[in-house]
Amino acid sequence: MKRFLLSSLLLFLSIGCSNSDDFDLIIRNGSVVDGSGVEAFKADLAIREGKIVQIGDLGPENTAREEIDASGRIIAPGFIDIHTHAERNLLDYPHIPNYVSQGVTTVIGGNCGSSPVDIGRYLAQAESTGIAVNLGLLVGHNSVRRKVMGSENRGPTPEEMQRMRELVGKAMEAGAMGMSTGLKYIPGAYAKTDEVVELAQIAGQYGGIYVTHMREEGLGLFDALRETLSIGVLANIPVQVSHFKAMGKSMWGSPARMISMIDSARAHGLDVTFDQYPYTATSTGLGVLLPAWAFAGGRDQYLQNWQNPDTRAKIRDAIVHNLLHDRGGGDPASIVIIRSEHDSTLDGKNLAEITQLFFGSVDVGKAAETVIQLMEKGRHSCIYHCLNEEDVRRLMTHPLGMVASDGHTVSAEERFPHPRNFGTFPRVLGQYVRELGVLALPTAINKMTGAVAERLNIPDRGEIAPGNWADLVIFDPLSITDHATWSQPKNLSSGIDFVLVNGEMVLSGGEQTGKLPGMTLRSKLE
Ligand SMILES: [Zn+2]
Repeated sequence: MKRFLLSSLLLFLSIGCSNSDDFDLIIRNGSVVDGSGVEAFKADLAIREGKIVQIGDLGPENTAREEIDASGRIIAPGFIDIHTHAERNLLDYPHIPNYVSQGVTTVIGGNCGSSPVDIGRYLAQAESTGIAVNLGLLVGHNSVRRKVMGSENRGPTPEEMQRMRELVGKAMEAGAMGMSTGLKYIPGAYAKTDEVVELAQIAGQYGGIYVTHMREEGLGLFDALRETLSIGVLANIPVQVSHFKAMGKSMWGSPARMISMIDSARAHGLDVTFDQYPYTATSTGLGVLLPAWAFAGGRDQYLQNWQNPDTRAKIRDAIVHNLLHDRGGGDPASIVIIRSEHDSTLDGKNLAEITQLFFGSVDVGKAAETVIQLMEKGRHSCIYHCLNEEDVRRLMTHPLGMVASDGHTVSAEERFPHPRNFGTFPRVLGQYVRELGVLALPTAINKMTGAVAERLNIPDRGEIAPGNWADLVIFDPLSITDHATWSQPKNLSSGIDFVLVNGEMVLSGGEQTGKLPGMTLRSKLE
């Protein structure tokens, strides 16, 4: 409420010094949902030099080069996606249609421990290429560790630790917004908690946040969450838990306990929040089904180790356990190969179908052997149907949660990417706000905008306020719908008319304009 009064005051002041002739754009007659979480209000918006300069009732004496009639439409701040891997393919696909078509105007890349190590260089490249949306980056612990230590399954020497500290420090100086970990992935999985604490501390000293794909999200979830919260306390850094979820049937129903752990850490002074994608399936590599130790020493080394019958049997047992109780979802048919590096005829087939092809029949043991044989041939991206819809809704309603896609810049070759790459934000607004009533519209928008900008210390985006950059989405709340499905994952959403980035239209009348007005965002030490 306080915030609302403050913005009303600013609104009054800015109208007081109106200069009516030189707006670049006026958006009239829309309902503004300003991103702060307050109810919608009727207002016109005036934009000049990329920024919102006036909000209020702009009469016909106010003119602009362009006008939009937003009658019956919602005007919201552009969506800020805090959890993406957008830097993958972005320089090849700078128009990033899978995000622009959702109303996303800022993407944060470098998540799950994986990022360019030289943040400054990547941001400079993005600037020279030009990008449709704004880009911020996290520095990834896995990438830093790999650069210094390769895929060694051990702790760092003092010299290696020092080198990793320097790389994180350099990334933060270049504008990284924090450090991400992917403690489920190689080589982050080989790091003990104290290594992560030491590096997170550095990110914290630069005003960054700690963003984590936790060590476990199925069996072992609670220990992993405990570790996460302790890293926040020991490193004295705000924590963002990435794609918060409970994987595998035996963990379904866990959100109540997950949330109580988060709430109690918060009550003890830790600044912790989380994000979530609105789907019941995850997406990552096939290798996640194998135990981390199986990958030690690099590809040539581990492929050789797998030839040892005892080792192979142990790996197979671990995969069977995973298939039954964790990300496997209890059934090989729950795992779908979406992209095979070596055999595109496997794309779109599930693990039960591929096991049938390999062995002529299916059981979990054969499915586990199939996984090993696929891994021997090359990389595979997968979708894992292993989450529970009630859990998704339960986490969605928590005030500390944000909406994020966990997607990337989808390339032309990908036929079956996770639909979250195309549908996340419209899905929340259509399915969970309008159809199911899980969230109120202003709350949902806040989880996509104001709350995210606050988390990332972005002072001039995420809310519709005078002086902020004009990152805006204009959509029809009665018709906005995601159309990306498991079988047709690249279908674009409908119901979004205009998307503006820094005052420029990247989507107009539902069509991409081809403009590249995105900026790179660098964290500033407070
Ligand atoms: Zn992740």
